[in-house]
Amino acid sequence: MSIRFDTMPHHCTGTVTTAVEAYSPAGGNAHGSLDATAYVCPRHVQTARDLWQTQGLTPYCTQARGSSHSCGAVTDFRDTDSAVTPA
Ligand SMILES: [Zn+2]
Repeated sequence: MSIRFDTMPHHCTGTVTTAVEAYSPAGGNAHGSLDATAYVCPRHVQTARDLWQTQGLTPYCTQARGSSHSCGAVTDFRDTDSAVTPA
């Protein structure tokens, strides 16, 4: 299992309030595997949800106030081999 740090394409200095987690199915559960998390401000929650959905993942928002991340920071837990490349 690898962890990669990435950023979304947009540039934003907004305060991060939400972590948009991305899940893929595992063990018959739609939220079986946590694959990645994007940290975003309120204006970019939908952007992050769209990002995960275009990769076939199920987005789930959790509260992330006080995070030290910048808006658009991504932590990706997927193995590089199995990562879905954005179209
Ligand atoms: Zn933002």
